[in-house]
Amino acid sequence: MSKISDFRSDTITKPTPEMRQAMAEAVVGDDVLGDDPTVQELERLAAKTMGKEAGLYVPTGTMGNAIAVKGWTQELDEVIVEARSHIYNMESTHMTFIARVNPRPLPSFRGAMDPEEVKRNIKEASVHHPRTSLICVENTHNNWSGAIVPLENLQNIRGLADQRGLKIHFDGARIFNASVASGVPVMEYAAVADSLMFCLSKGLSAPIGSMLVGPQSFIDHGRRLRKALGGGMRQVGVLAAAGLLAMTKMVDRLADDHVRAKRLARALSEFPEIDLDPELVDTDIVIFGFHHPRLSVTDFLARLKEKGILALPVPQGIRFVTSKEVDDSDVDHAIQSFQQILSEAS
Ligand SMILES: *Cc1c(COP(=O)(O)O)cnc(C)c1O
Repeated sequence: MSKISDFRSDTITKPTPEMRQAMAEAVVGDDVLGDDPTVQELERLAAKTMGKEAGLYVPTGTMGNAIAVKGWTQELDEVIVEARSHIYNMESTHMTFIARVNPRPLPSFRGAMDPEEVKRNIKEASVHHPRTSLICVENTHNNWSGAIVPLENLQNIRGLADQRGLKIHFDGARIFNASVASGVPVMEYAAVADSLMFCLSKGLSAPIGSMLVGPQSFIDHGRRLRKALGGGMRQVGVLAAAGLLAMTKMVDRLADDHVRAKRLARALSEFPEIDLDPELVDTDIVIFGFHHPRLSVTDFLARLKEKGILALPVPQGIRFVTSKEVDDSDVDHAIQSFQQILSEAS
């Protein structure tokens, strides 16, 4: 069988042999009854790593974000979100479905919203208007090709939130990618937010799981919300054991993914059919436009698949994501396949 190179997502990362071992040996209890020691250890580690009081293990990042929005808002409130953000576009409308709040999408420069624009959109409640109660930020920014949102921009938004008494929820699904690539400690990013969610299942190889961290009272309430959403899990230390290794052993190697993404981006940007500035690839996500007189994005992805290259379409074109499941030979395989398909089709 020919080689398969899977660039669809960093969620495809499989548990390492060490994780499988730790999962087999995990000490477990009933976490809904509050006695799974492995989950408790993971929740403590997550909180400590991010400089927050408490942590909550959730099955998905989406559930973590949904709990945070519900936890910080009242029905009829408004929440400021970035227009291309995951929480607004990719989470099946939980803001309106669960928290029953109105999202207010704002434009940005590569994920960084202009603080003046944020300020203009903060509303006091009136008979016409919802009250703004929460601002959501995302870093790295998935749909801005994994862009790192600068710490200074986030600090400016924090300043505004403080002036106006608003909360900030940080979608840090890939906060470790931001930290590894920028050198800014995760705790400094987390300090701008009241709550933060990060994923163990992206790039870090845990089979499932995300962490929500924040103040103790928020997490206590979040534990009730998690149960209400069907996310109370029993001997889930089996999975938390892999999460502990994701946090302690898998973070530093994210730098390799970033190097490969950059190399891929540099090579792909040479093709005239591809609209991509490799200097704007900060981390593990490479999003580019594809324009060809005879091949649509769908046709091109199908040709790539015939050659064993897997990637996904996005509104801007095509997305490639590097992870520990692809190595330098997969990057070469992708570049060669682009060359072959584009020369055959010319
Ligand atoms: C993946 C992702 C999430 C959460 O996704 P789940 O698949 O529900 O774990 C949230 N935010 C961003 C930016 C993401 O990329």
